[in-house]
Amino acid sequence: MRNVYEQISVDQDVCMHCGACVGTCPRNAMFLHDLTVASNEECNGCGICVKVCPVGAISKNNGGDSR
Ligand code: SF4
Ligand code: SF4
Repeated sequence: MRNVYEQISVDQDVCMHCGACVGTCPRNAMFLHDLTVASNEECNGCGICVKVCPVGAISKNNGGDSR
């Protein structure tokens, strides 16, 4: 299942809930919720979480960095 937010998408089937994106996001837009990763409206699409995810579960929307 792919969770699509305004700026990014998170593939919940790939995510292993390591929390790396949660700890790295400069806007605290990422959080673990019921063993899924969700982002909120604070996300500005900076793409840091895309790079930090060890399993490539996060991708930017609109043709940005792909996993
Ligand atoms: S793209 Fe940037 S602001 Fe958005 S969730 Fe990822 S690290 Fe946070
Ligand atoms: S960094 Fe990747 S694997 Fe880890 S919690 Fe975030 S989306 Fe899931």
